[in-house]
Amino acid sequence: DESDWTAVEDLDDADGGDAAPPQPVLAIVGRPNVGKSTLVNRILGRREAVVQDVPGVTRDRVAYDAQWAGRRFTVLDTGGWEPKAEGMAAAVAAQAEYAMAHADAVVVVVDATVGATATDEAVARVLRRSKRPVLLVANKVDDERLLADTASLWSLGLGEPYPVSALHGRNSGDLLDAILAVLPETPRETYGATTGGPRRVALVGKPNVGKSSLLNKLTGEDRAVVDSVAGTTVDPVDSLVELDGQVWRFVDTAGLRKRVNFASGAEYYASLRTKGAIESAEVVIVLLDASEPIAEQDLRVLTMVVEAGRACVLALNKWDLVDEDRRNELERELERGLVRITWAERVNVSALTGRAVRKLAPALRTALASWDQRISTGRLNGWLNDLVAATPPPVRGGKQPKILFATQAATRPPTFVLFTTGFLEAGYRRFLERRLREEFGFPGSPIRISVRVRE
Ligand code: GDP
Ligand code: GDP
Repeated sequence: DESDWTAVEDLDDADGGDAAPPQPVLAIVGRPNVGKSTLVNRILGRREAVVQDVPGVTRDRVAYDAQWAGRRFTVLDTGGWEPKAEGMAAAVAAQAEYAMAHADAVVVVVDATVGATATDEAVARVLRRSKRPVLLVANKVDDERLLADTASLWSLGLGEPYPVSALHGRNSGDLLDAILAVLPETPRETYGATTGGPRRVALVGKPNVGKSSLLNKLTGEDRAVVDSVAGTTVDPVDSLVELDGQVWRFVDTAGLRKRVNFASGAEYYASLRTKGAIESAEVVIVLLDASEPIAEQDLRVLTMVVEAGRACVLALNKWDLVDEDRRNELERELERGLVRITWAERVNVSALTGRAVRKLAPALRTALASWDQRISTGRLNGWLNDLVAATPPPVRGGKQPKILFATQAATRPPTFVLFTTGFLEAGYRRFLERRLREEFGFPGSPIRISVRVRE
């Protein structure tokens, strides 16, 4: 009947992938034990349920959706790891750097019953440079009598301390109002949106794979690192790099250049950064060390790229170290390890010698063209009708599901919706995806297919 098909038209008009508008990000920082997690829970507990958890990699949770006074925002909890006591000030300062680079506002939590410690002062030094709003929270002010203690926290140079008790909820509503007052309505970056600026590239991979070497090679060889380009504003954590006559924005390269290493928490911090970089990019260069076996850590990075729905180029680095034996071994490892990402183009490079690094820019362009590609509904259904006529979906429970109609509902990544009269088996969905790629390509981009069963 007619009413069902209006939904299809709506979808066809819709564009841009994610249905929900991007939310501003609030980061919570501070040294261990000041009550960050308690405060995060308090912020989230103000409403009935957490809408969605974004799974972290080494920790269960990193970011949460929150809502207050009708406004939605994301809370980034950077407190889920415990740096060793001796490296504490540096570690927490690095955490604050991360927050400044990725959040729209920062809350720094201090324990009012303890007062400002050397670590708190180190964090404050970092945050005083912040271009984003910073709110100083004096936590554990469980009752009136402790209020006097908070005055000394003015010395941190972060303005007026907000006294709260995260544990008991004292003043937390006022704090949330203050947060909303400084948090912008829209995030600083609308990821994936066509801004007309340079395309955004993330360079990721496990430690020592050659990320900073490659970045140096790319910027050094072309001798065209640009600090500012007319008409664009550059986040200081990013680098503008000219490759092959085109300016690209390499995101979060500050973190690559400044090598932050902690005895503990290092892996968590690195994966948080990797995830952040992937999410702020449109296309990701995943570096693998061709001279070593593909590791669990490599696969985790690839999974992040696939789940984030970003375009991808695989760069097999240290190719100068690869001999014939290793090459054969590697082929087998890749066949096994890259099953979810067979669509990504592979470039065998050496950041050391410069081998094939010039092939990266064309590969990035191809991947982005796929990511942006739209197949018209007419063309898609013409192809689909022929395909389904030749190979119909398998009968299930005595019924033959019919595929009524398909449409590409979104780009970035290309997302298809199939309307059917019944469930399609995973095997048949994979078959459709394979044939879709054979027909329309999409090299370098993930594609998504969802099925809507029409009752
Ligand atoms: P984090 O390491 O900064 O995330 O700190 P936690 O949230 O884990 O809190 C550390 C300890 O401080 C826990 O035992 C909390 O129960 C306690 N705590 C947190 N907020 C308050 C508060 O407002 N008042 C009091 N008295 N204790 C608190
Ligand atoms: P990152 O931790 O991913 O930034 O890795 P680095 O760029 O610091 O590189 C780690 C080590 O690998 C350094 O000693 C580099 O000199 C070395 N390296 C990087 N790329 C190559 C390469 O293509 N070939 C060889 N042989 N060594 C490389």
